[in-house]
Amino acid sequence: QCVRACPCGALDYKRERGDVFTAMNDPKKVVVGFVAPAVRTVIASEYDLSVEEASGFIAGLMRKVGFDKVFDFSFAADLTIMEETTEFLGRVTNGGTMPQFTSCCPGWVNLVERRYPELIPHLSSCKSPQQMMGATVKNHFAQQAGISLDDLYVVSIVPCLAKKYEAARPEFAPEEIRDVDAVLTTTEFLEMVQMLRLEPKDVEPGAFDEPYKRVTGAGVLFGASGGVAEAALRMAVEKLTGTPLVDDLDFEEVRGFEGLKEATIVAGETTVKVAVISGLNNVAPIAERMKNGEHPGYDLIEVMACPGGCINGAGHPVPDRVGEMAARQRVLVEIDKLSKYRKSQENPDILRLYDEYYGEPNSHVAHDLLHTTYAPFRG
Ligand code: SF4
Repeated sequence: QCVRACPCGALDYKRERGDVFTAMNDPKKVVVGFVAPAVRTVIASEYDLSVEEASGFIAGLMRKVGFDKVFDFSFAADLTIMEETTEFLGRVTNGGTMPQFTSCCPGWVNLVERRYPELIPHLSSCKSPQQMMGATVKNHFAQQAGISLDDLYVVSIVPCLAKKYEAARPEFAPEEIRDVDAVLTTTEFLEMVQMLRLEPKDVEPGAFDEPYKRVTGAGVLFGASGGVAEAALRMAVEKLTGTPLVDDLDFEEVRGFEGLKEATIVAGETTVKVAVISGLNNVAPIAERMKNGEHPGYDLIEVMACPGGCINGAGHPVPDRVGEMAARQRVLVEIDKLSKYRKSQENPDILRLYDEYYGEPNSHVAHDLLHTTYAPFRG
């Protein structure tokens, strides 16, 4: 109920590590964990890891804690880009409701439903990456691996308090089976590591598991403000021009910690005006103007509730040194630069998932499992 007062869920924070340990101790359960890009920025700093070491270490650490399968949330970020950018291009070409707001951040979605319900038609219908990953694991993976849904327990590890409330929303628990069974914050995950007295020497670094092993730099960028917009632009520009984007993949104007960043991108005959907002206080001027019927002059608007994006989420340990936020952002940017794949639409595991299961972005099956609806909050 406190979410009424705090859209980011800080007032009704509930630890779930006990539930996760219980599932891990049940021999019948297959416990799947997936970890958000921003979490590895904290793990890198906590264990003094290089950018190259961070992803492999966290996969090994999750296995050591007791997860049977470990996936990278960045995969779901890639899936989100496929769905959300396709929706955006559809709105551009078919004269749909504009501008389109991103819907990855449940703190922002909560604010719209509570304070700005007039803006609901502008929200992308895409579920957040957390819910897309949960729905994909509970449907595609369960079917492929032959695991009964009663025996599958899905856990996300995130920097976010609002995602706990999001995972428990009734629309994400069709037929009483939740897409995501438990949500651990970065801090709770580190507490589990301490409770098990795990040392870095106990961890054998490794890769994330099939069938969602490969991720792109675009997906990793989701962890910081501007990352969703940048990943979407890497796909939108390519689709609008009909030419593969080879160089100029970096849209640096949308990166950084300012509350409002803007970019104008010319893609063939289309000009796309983008705004990137971080910190909920910074969205009020645009939201109020739109509430009064004014067009804000943008086509795509990314909003993240936390200043700087998920790297500054309340589920992380509080930064204890100056420059920690910039260091966290650097980890993501460096991982992107070093990535073999840097555009969501070229991730081979994403393409295979569409071939095998979803058909194409925004297909009927994709709409059923990867999209949602919103409603004004009635209390
Ligand atoms: Fe959660 Fe903050 Fe990230 Fe939004 S910006 S998804 S509230 S951590």
